[in-house]
Amino acid sequence: MQYDTVIHGGTVVTPYETFRADVGIAEGRIAAVAERLNGGERRIDAGGRLVLPGGIEAHCHIAQESSSGVMTADDYYSGSVSAAFGGNSCFVPFAAQHRGQSIADVIATYDGRAAPKSVIDYSYHLIISDPTPAVLEELPGVFQRGITSFKVFMTYDLMNIGDGGMLDILTVAKTHGALTMVHAENNEMVKWMNRRFAAAGLTAPKYHALSRPELAEEEAINRAVSLAKLVDAALFIVHVSTRGGAEIVRREKLAGTKLFAETCPQYLALTRSDLDRPGMEGAKYICSPPLRDQETQEGLWQHIRSGTFESVSSDHAPYRADASGKFLNGMDAPYPKIANGMPGIAMRLPYLFSEGVAKGRITLGDFVKLSSSNAAHVFGLDRKGAIAPGFDADIAIWNPEETRKVTLDMQHDNMDYTPFEGNEITGWPELVMNRGRIVVEKGTLKGQAGDGRFMARKPVDTGAMPGHRAVEFKIAAEFGQEIAP
Ligand SMILES: [Zn+2]
Repeated sequence: MQYDTVIHGGTVVTPYETFRADVGIAEGRIAAVAERLNGGERRIDAGGRLVLPGGIEAHCHIAQESSSGVMTADDYYSGSVSAAFGGNSCFVPFAAQHRGQSIADVIATYDGRAAPKSVIDYSYHLIISDPTPAVLEELPGVFQRGITSFKVFMTYDLMNIGDGGMLDILTVAKTHGALTMVHAENNEMVKWMNRRFAAAGLTAPKYHALSRPELAEEEAINRAVSLAKLVDAALFIVHVSTRGGAEIVRREKLAGTKLFAETCPQYLALTRSDLDRPGMEGAKYICSPPLRDQETQEGLWQHIRSGTFESVSSDHAPYRADASGKFLNGMDAPYPKIANGMPGIAMRLPYLFSEGVAKGRITLGDFVKLSSSNAAHVFGLDRKGAIAPGFDADIAIWNPEETRKVTLDMQHDNMDYTPFEGNEITGWPELVMNRGRIVVEKGTLKGQAGDGRFMARKPVDTGAMPGHRAVEFKIAAEFGQEIAP
């Protein structure tokens, strides 16, 4: 066997094993994993290093306008470069529909943004904000193209599609095997809280965290799960930020609901007190759902360890702390007029490794699941997320002992701050490969704009999750009326 590259002497990690092995790569794929492999046009010494599946970032906002029209600071070049420096070989940003826009137009727009620029492989989740009958008719075509996940919002007036809209999308998704993702917060609770704070003249960034109560997330997660159960559709809850929300996910999974979920490093690393920094510094920590507290952090780690979450995703939403981003509405804008979101695509995996693996909260196998293999499975990237013959040679070589203090220039994004500034991190990716091409090596970018390819994804696999069949549909069927989706 002729190999283009052999990675030798490293420790390969899969979700269930950690073992010494060489990895042989031919034509962009992993061709062999064996105790010892000779040959290889290029031999990479991975002695003392971990050889992991390249990270898959399944929640990030790249070259995307917010519903109020603010463009992210990162495009598909800087976003993918930053992702690669953070140990990722593939990412799945959002292609966002704005009200009135056709889905064909959305996809064409994002193809134009991604194809010429991405240095790593990519796909999109489609955000649907306007599920008109015409839009619902377009969804099967999107699915055919390999975009097999649709995201909806229960909050933000310009995005919230209402419970009926959600049922429509869940039904189409179920019919085609697509996965519906949901941002779950109760819109009316948030708006009511905003009115209370506005009436009292409380508009500083710190009130943002209080305006979006934990109960708003818990209620909406419960409602989203109920809607999905009515039509027996698969559901993915993004960025779970509360213990109550995580408990619902856990309980429903035990009950066999077709349910997946994630949390994000910011909910583990930061608290609502970060929004109370001097001046307008707190604006940098505005995101939704908002940061919580230390008890929540501990609770979320327990859920990470015990398998409530498939993945830990960055929710990278890069809005600079200037008039192009956070402060589009002025440097002293009230919190509801400050752009929501934080950067972190390069920090997701180093943070998870350092706080998770190095501190003994999770195992190396858990890290592989949470960073890569679960996302590959849930989102239908069937050639990614594993170090095994036949899979894409998407590999990250980590130095588990390297320590660094986090700075902005390590992020390689277009941002003017990192919320992880000054963190002491143990464990960094030294080399990142995508389909056998080296993208980043020892702190140097080797990949080029346009190297990444669009990845058509498979339908969602709900495996052994039995789901539910609502009793009313069963009874209707006994009446001879098959109205179930
Ligand atoms: Zn997001």
